[in-house]
Amino acid sequence: MKFIFDFDDVLFYNTEKLKRHIYLCLDNAGVSYNTAETYYKKIRGGEFSLKNFILDLLKKEKIKEIKMEDVYEDIMSKCPDFINKELVDIVRKLGKENCYLVTYGEKEFNKEKVERSGIAPLFCEINVVSGSKKEIIERICAKHKNEKAVFIDDVPKHFENLDFKKYPNLKTILFDDKGLEKLKTEISKA
Ligand SMILES: [Mg+2]
Repeated sequence: MKFIFDFDDVLFYNTEKLKRHIYLCLDNAGVSYNTAETYYKKIRGGEFSLKNFILDLLKKEKIKEIKMEDVYEDIMSKCPDFINKELVDIVRKLGKENCYLVTYGEKEFNKEKVERSGIAPLFCEINVVSGSKKEIIERICAKHKNEKAVFIDDVPKHFENLDFKKYPNLKTILFDDKGLEKLKTEISKA
């Protein structure tokens, strides 16, 4: 059985922990929570670059004595603390050869989030996509057509347009508050 994991809000507490930490580090640098959040709401939706986000805010607030790189480092150094430890333990047990990671977003920032979180060695393949995950998911299903391929994501949109007829081995799990239980049940069936 193969497993394809999403990163943000599945393996990694992006919304709950990283985002809060970003605001905290920016606040320490002199950018208020409100200013940062208002600006985030304005630019979100596109490909989010943390470096550009910090740069823009420091410029906006006319903060010259603090370097973007230092704020960025403050933020990113905490990545290992934000992983979903229970899920990562499961991944470790499943084995590298059975686990893929497919995450959505801006390439540099998301690649670095995965690297800095320390879990990259647990996956046989890591992909950062800026659009649909369909192509990669279906390629993995085709490669392992005699095995079940379980795709775990917290965003239902990523399940749209997947060709379940052509890839009957594909199964999706929506990673909501029952996500971990659903995954454990699926693993126990194997
Ligand atoms: Mg996600």
